[in-house]
Amino acid sequence: MNDFPIDTIREDFPLLKAQVNKTRLVYFDNAATTQKPVQVIDTIDNLYRNQNSSIHRSVNYLSGKMTEAYEGARETVRRFVHANNSREIIFTAGATASINLVATSFGEAFIEEGDEVLVSAMEHHSNIVPWQLLCDRKKARLKVLPVNDIGELQMDQLPILLTERTRLIAVTQVSNAMGVINPVNEIIRQAHEKNIPVLIDGAQSIQHGQINVQEMDCDFYVFSGHKVYGPTGIGVLYGKEKWLEAMPPYQGGGDMIDRVSFSGTSFNVLPFKFEAGTTNYVGAIALGAALEYIEHIGLDHIDAYEIALNDYAGNALRSIPGIRIFGDSKMKHPIFSFLLENIHPYDAGMVLDKLGIAIRTGTHCAMPLMEHFGIDGTIRASMCFYNTKEEVDRFVEGINTVQEMFG
Ligand code: PLP
Repeated sequence: MNDFPIDTIREDFPLLKAQVNKTRLVYFDNAATTQKPVQVIDTIDNLYRNQNSSIHRSVNYLSGKMTEAYEGARETVRRFVHANNSREIIFTAGATASINLVATSFGEAFIEEGDEVLVSAMEHHSNIVPWQLLCDRKKARLKVLPVNDIGELQMDQLPILLTERTRLIAVTQVSNAMGVINPVNEIIRQAHEKNIPVLIDGAQSIQHGQINVQEMDCDFYVFSGHKVYGPTGIGVLYGKEKWLEAMPPYQGGGDMIDRVSFSGTSFNVLPFKFEAGTTNYVGAIALGAALEYIEHIGLDHIDAYEIALNDYAGNALRSIPGIRIFGDSKMKHPIFSFLLENIHPYDAGMVLDKLGIAIRTGTHCAMPLMEHFGIDGTIRASMCFYNTKEEVDRFVEGINTVQEMFG
């Protein structure tokens, strides 16, 4: 933890210097969205000031530069997730859009009445509702892999839940509500033994360590730019080429076509087949800048720093009297979900905000998980590599204040 250049890194993030309620902001809502380094902010500023032009379509100089940068960003994403080729990288509006793309297009081609899709009980609504809509449409069945008391997947149930009708498993690599890391390699191994493809929701894993989709052997991997220090409105769908080739187009429009005629339309090759209309090319290029920024710091360094921060914060929180932590697994990232005895999460959130500490309260878009624990919501503090032990100390002091006020 000591040799991590935390001071230099924090300098890169202007918003970390903000004052909230006359005190220095402690930003612990990184699972919702991360702050942006100047490298990303400047990229966006520069693109709109000096280079803006629509990609792929025009012969003009600016369009050529923009197209080159956009396809360069695709290559950066490919390298970052270690995909085999850039045809397997589709730019979307975010993780939600990527999952909806797969649910609609893969669902159209491969799900029939009586088939089954398996998700887990800890999924974000984005990885539940698109599958519910698909299952309703196709008269298929959505099955659920349960979690245990400490919020880990009940892996012994997996072989029982997989049947000859299972057509896809969609599971998160890291729980947004608890930070628990799921054994996705083992899920994929068991699924592939039965020829079942697996979609990994990487919205909470892409920012915490090395992702290698080829080693993982997942069939689909999705994430959002804004959770990995990039802009909002941009995300990625990685898909194995064999699946993307076999899937029908999702949305129709410009760029995704080869020829259009009233007698019939033919479609563009991958990845353009799934990128209809004017894409968020500025967002994609800025996402590329965010990933390059992280590569520059080094994912292994980030991972090691966050493990130390997770241990420090975990120990500090566990020593607070009257705290109940959800998902206190050994395998986790620094996302902490908890309740304080006799204190409503919303009250705690309001007081912490007055102290300049930004956390989140509520169900974290994971109502089925809250139902499993029999609660209405939690307080969630989510940290990342620009957070510090000193901020954790301020947070713990803040919780003490909350307890003095309401306890
Ligand atoms: N999946 C997980 C695990 C998430 O945490 C989130 C966002 O919180 C999403 C999916 C949806 O991401 P977005 O709203 O950026 O599409």
